Amino acid sequence: MEFSILADSFSKMESTRKRLELTQFLVELFEKTPHEVISKIVYLIQGKLRPDFEGVELGVAEKLAMRAISKSSGIPIKKIEDEYRKGGDLGHAASIILEQKTQTTFLVEDITIERVYETLFKIAKLEGVRSQDMKIKYISSLLNDASPLEASFILKILLGTLRLGIAENTVMDALAIAFSGNKENRKILEYAYNVSSDLGKVAETIAIKGIKEIEKFEIILFNPIRPMLADRVKSEDEAIEKMGDNFAAEYKLDGERVQIHIEGEKVELFSRSLEKISNYYPDIIENIPKIIQADNVILEAEAVAINENTGEFLPFQELMHRRRKYKIEKAVTQYPITVNFFDVLYYNGKSCLEVDYKNRRDRLEKIVKEDNFAKYIPMTIVKNKNEIEDFFENSINAGSEGLMLKMLDKPYKAGSRGSHWLKLKREYQNELGDSLDLVIIGGFFGKGRRTGSYGTLLLATYDEDYDTFTSICKVGTGFSDENLDQLYQILHPKVTIKKNPRINSEMEADVWFEPELVIEVVASEITISPIHKAAKDKIRKGAGLALRFPKFTGKIRMEKTSEDASTNEEVITLYKGQKKVAHDKNLI
Ligand code: ATP
Repeated sequence: MEFSILADSFSKMESTRKRLELTQFLVELFEKTPHEVISKIVYLIQGKLRPDFEGVELGVAEKLAMRAISKSSGIPIKKIEDEYRKGGDLGHAASIILEQKTQTTFLVEDITIERVYETLFKIAKLEGVRSQDMKIKYISSLLNDASPLEASFILKILLGTLRLGIAENTVMDALAIAFSGNKENRKILEYAYNVSSDLGKVAETIAIKGIKEIEKFEIILFNPIRPMLADRVKSEDEAIEKMGDNFAAEYKLDGERVQIHIEGEKVELFSRSLEKISNYYPDIIENIPKIIQADNVILEAEAVAINENTGEFLPFQELMHRRRKYKIEKAVTQYPITVNFFDVLYYNGKSCLEVDYKNRRDRLEKIVKEDNFAKYIPMTIVKNKNEIEDFFENSINAGSEGLMLKMLDKPYKAGSRGSHWLKLKREYQNELGDSLDLVIIGGFFGKGRRTGSYGTLLLATYDEDYDTFTSICKVGTGFSDENLDQLYQILHPKVTIKKNPRINSEMEADVWFEPELVIEVVASEITISPIHKAAKDKIRKGAGLALRFPKFTGKIRMEKTSEDASTNEEVITLYKGQKKVAHDKNLI
C-alpha cells in the first residue's frame, strides 16, 4: 500500500479535533487498507511500531534527524535548524526544505507503508557504535524517495511528535464501523483490547477474521492485561455511601504495581503503564516461581521497598534506585523489597476476570505460598465506619498510604477506573484532599545552593480534549538535594531546542523539556489564574486554574506516562469540591 495514502489521511486528521470527523477519516482509511497491513497502520496512528509492552523504541534525536535531512537534501544543517526554529516542528521544516530540493531532483521510487514500517523497525533495533551512521543512512534513503508531505510524517513518527489526537476509543469505533458495520461492537473490541493491550492485533483480527473472532479473544500469557483502577474518595462516609456495608479493605501500599506472568521457569513483569520491567526485579524473577502452585498464572502485586531490620515499608522513591541498566544486582541487595500480592487474573489456562473479588482472593491465597519475600496484601472485611478507621490507622502505622476498598461480589474490570474499587488516602498536609501527578514541561536554573540544577520546575496537567499539556504551576519547594540531582540527571537529556507543540503555556521557562516526566505534588488550594492554561475557560472565561503553594512530595512517578498525569477534568472536580467545602463551612 502506498505511503502517500497514509500521509494524505494523516494530513486530514491533523486538521480536525472533532471526534466524529476523525472517526470518519479512519473508517475511510481502514476501508482502503489491505488486511495484512492494518496492524501496522494502527500502530503508526498511535505513533508506535509495536504495542508498548514489546519495548520497541524509535529513539531518534532531533540532531540526528537534522543530519539525515541534510544528507538527503544537500542543504546545510544550520539552514534546517533555522527553518525548524520558525515553526517548532521538524517534520514540517523538513517538508519545506525538501520542497526546495524536489524542484531539482525527481522521485526515484514510490514508497510503500511496508517499506517505511520495515525501515523504521530496523532503525529501532539498531544498537552499538555504528548505529548513528546507519540510522542516518536509513532515514535519508527514505527521505530521498519521499514527497515533502510523506517526509514530514516519516519524521514525525521517528521523532515521536506525530499528534493526531486520536484516542484508542476512536480507533475502536472506526474499526467496529469499518469491519462489522456497527459502532456498538466497540464494546466487544474494548474487551479484546483490555485483555491483550495490543490494538494492532485487535485490528488485524477483526479485519481478517471478523467480529466473531474478536468475541473469542482471550488473555494471552506474557501479553499484559490493562489494569483496573480505583476512584478516589475523601472519607469513610463517602466510601460507605458508594459501597454499602460489606466490602473488603486492603492496605494501599506505596510501591510499584507489577503484573507478574509465570509459566514454569518463564517469568515476565509489566508495569502499570504496561511496560516490561523484568530487568529491574531479578529478585522477583528468581524467587516467585518457586512459591507458586500453578502451571501458569498472572498475578498482581505491589513491590515495596522495606527496611530489612524492622520489616517496615519504605516510600516509593526507594524503588527508584532500581531504575538503572547496570549494577542492578547491587541495587537489589542495597534496597530490598517484598512482593505483596493482591489479585489473580489468570490461572491454569483460564481467565479469572469474571470471578468475583472474594473468590479471586481465596484463589490467590491458595496459589501463593507466603514467605519473607512474598506476602498477601493485608485485607479485612469491613462493615462500618469504625472498622474502616481502625484498619486505616493500622495501614498508616505500617508505612502505607491508606486503603483500597473493594466490592466483594464484583469482577475484575480490566482497563477501567470505576467505583468497584475506591482509594482512601492519607491527606498529608494537603488541603486539596489528594495529590496531583503533573508533567514537567519547563525548568528555571537554580541559584545559590541550587546552581547547576533546575531550582524551579514548570508543571502541567494533561488536557484530554486537545491531547496537550497545560501549565498549572511553578514548583520550587519540597526538593531535597538528592531530588534535585536526580531530576537534573533525568531532565537534562529531555531539553528541547523549541517548546514541544503539545505544551500549552504562556509562562516562559529557561529551558523546555519533552513533556514526559511525571511528579507528584500537593497544594493548599486551586485558584483562578490569568496566566496558567489548565482548564482554560472552563470555570471562568479567559482564565485557567493554578495551584497555590504547590510542593513536591518527593515522588517521581516513573511508572506513569505523561498521558496518565492528572487531567483538567480531575482538577475541575477538585476545584468544585473545594468550593463545596468552603461553602459548607460558611467561608463563602
Ligand atoms: P495513585 O496516584 O493513587 O497511585 P494511580 O492512578 O496510580 O493512583 P489508582 O488505581 O488510582 O492508580 O490507585 C491504585 C494504585 O495503588 C495501583 O496502581 C497500585 O499501584 C497501588 N496499590 C497499592 N495497594 C494496592 C492494593 N491493595 N490494591 C490495588 N492497588 C494497590
